[in-house]
This record gives sequence, C-alpha cells and structure tokens, in this order.
Amino acid sequence: MLMLQQKNMSQEPLQNLIVWSGNRAKLLSRCQRQYYHQNIGSWLGWDSSSSPESQCAYRLKQLSTPELEIGNLLHQQIAIIFEKSRTGSPIHPSVEISIARAQFRDFVDHSRHRCLEELTAKRHKLLLHEQGKNLSADDMIEYEAGIATMLENFFQFPDVQRLLADPASVLFEHLDPTGFQIGRELGVPSRPKTDAVFIDDDNTVVVCDWKCGNPSSDHRVQGLVYALYISRKMNLPPTQPVEIRFYYLSSGKVEAYRYTAEEQEEMQWQISEDFGEFQRLSDDPIVNVGPETRFKPTVGKACFYCNFRLMCEPFLQSPLARSSEVTSA
Ligand code: SF4
Repeated sequence: MLMLQQKNMSQEPLQNLIVWSGNRAKLLSRCQRQYYHQNIGSWLGWDSSSSPESQCAYRLKQLSTPELEIGNLLHQQIAIIFEKSRTGSPIHPSVEISIARAQFRDFVDHSRHRCLEELTAKRHKLLLHEQGKNLSADDMIEYEAGIATMLENFFQFPDVQRLLADPASVLFEHLDPTGFQIGRELGVPSRPKTDAVFIDDDNTVVVCDWKCGNPSSDHRVQGLVYALYISRKMNLPPTQPVEIRFYYLSSGKVEAYRYTAEEQEEMQWQISEDFGEFQRLSDDPIVNVGPETRFKPTVGKACFYCNFRLMCEPFLQSPLARSSEVTSA
C-alpha cells in the first residue's frame, strides 16, 4: 500500500486518509484539479523538505476571506458561551460581542503582517492582504456591526435562551468537537461535526447548526447528513424523532427539517457513491495519492475564487486569465 507518512508530536503516523465530506464531494464535482490541490497536492506542504508545489498548495489553502474567518470565530465563541453555561459562569452578551469583535480586529491586524510562508492551518491570512489590498475603516465598521448583529440574534433565539438558562438538556459531547477523529457512522470514513445537540421537551433530538449566510437548498442536504450521523452516533432507534435546526445568525430566522427513512437511505447511497469516486481517483483505496494530471481542471469564472489559481497552469494559460490582472496579483 502506498503511504504518505509524517510523524506528529505523539509519534503517531499521520496518513492522508480518504475521508468523505460534503465539501469534498462538491469540490470534486466543481473542479477535480482544485480537489487535488486541496486534498492531495497540499499534503505534507507544512514540511520544508516537501516539494515546492506541495508547500505552495498548502500555503495557498490557508488564504481566507473575512466572511470565513468571522464564521469560524463565531462558532468558537458560541461553543465557549455554552461551556460557560455548563460551568455556571456568568454570560453577558455585550461582553461576548466585544470579545468576538476584538478577535476579528486582532486577526485582521495579524493577517496584514503575515507572509505566505508563515501560514498554517491555525494561522490564516486574508487573500485580499496577499493581493496587496486592505480593508477600509468603513469595511471594518460593517464587519464588526455584522458580528454584533449575529451574536445579538444568537442570544435572542428562544432555544438558545432556554438552553443557556438550563444547560442540562445539552449533549456536551456533541458541542462543536475539536480534533480530527475519523468515524464510520456514515458507512465510510468521515469526520462530521455538529455545532450543538440537545434533547427538546418532547424528547426530540435536535441538532443545531449556526449559519452566518443565507438559507440555501444545500442546507437541506447538509441536514440529512447530520440526521444520519447523529442517529448512528447515538445509536437511536428508528422511532426516535431527530430534527435539524438551522439558526440563521444574520436574520434571526430558524429553519427545521426532519427526514424520512427513505431520504436517509438515499443519502447513504450518495455518500457511498462519492466515496467510491474518491477512491477511484486515488492510487490507493485508503490513502489519498495520485498524479496532478489525472485531475481534470475546469477553467471558468469560478477560477477567480479559487485559492490555487496562482499555481494552476491550465488557468494561467487560459484566455480568461490573460484578459484579467490575476497573473500579476
Ligand atoms: S484555478 Fe480553476 S481550473 Fe485551476 S484548480 Fe482552480 S478552479 Fe480548477
């Protein structure tokens, strides 16, 4: 078996295992080459003895947007707020909002001064800074106001108010878990994460998902994956009601979904199909590996939003790139 290995701090071998995720499946259907850079080409790129291409792909992968960073920091902040409720620590919405705003300002400040070579999975940089641009004072006011609105709305959700007042029904083992444990609840290796899970008054298991963006038809499918995952993770009987609730932080709206057994079976079939495709594209059925040229590039307007466009020859040589300023970015 071909294996790419690296020793971590605990001397456990690290392997670039093939795992299923909805994002990977979407990426593969959008552009196979982008999937390659994201999941195969960038592997081991944190190691200075790796090829320049892997190091480049790994660094480019860490370039981010204000929206993504705000989403990450709000999820972390919300998990901390629930932890505070568990330990009985006081929670003041205005303090939590100030913390989140300050974290965003700190990140932007660090991002401005970071070089590409310093980036890691925990040390991101805004793509716009890498392109020599900046966020204006008005941009910062707008982003910070957005953070405040989203946390204010979070504290207004009736479910959140009830759970923070009485956290006994929160299943803390499913609260935004950190780490990279791979499970087989979805029938194939995967690492699904739930933002929070609680038991409602009528005994329904509720999976919460905090959304910074707007409602989308993709969310229904995403919810189906959570329903499958949590039913199996908790070993729930088929009669146990499970509901997925999307809490839209920007608007304060909530969307709830329940799924039939047939829908869950169909999702399971789709996941197995996607996973089979990941395996077919790899030289190994367990580990992600393969030559770049096997992964077909899809050159189009979406390339302008792709982190890897600056190292993507098919794009750089396309009329699309030549007609833009991207090559000099
Ligand atoms: S730049 Fe375009 S073609 Fe190249 S990897 Fe990105 S999306 Fe694919």
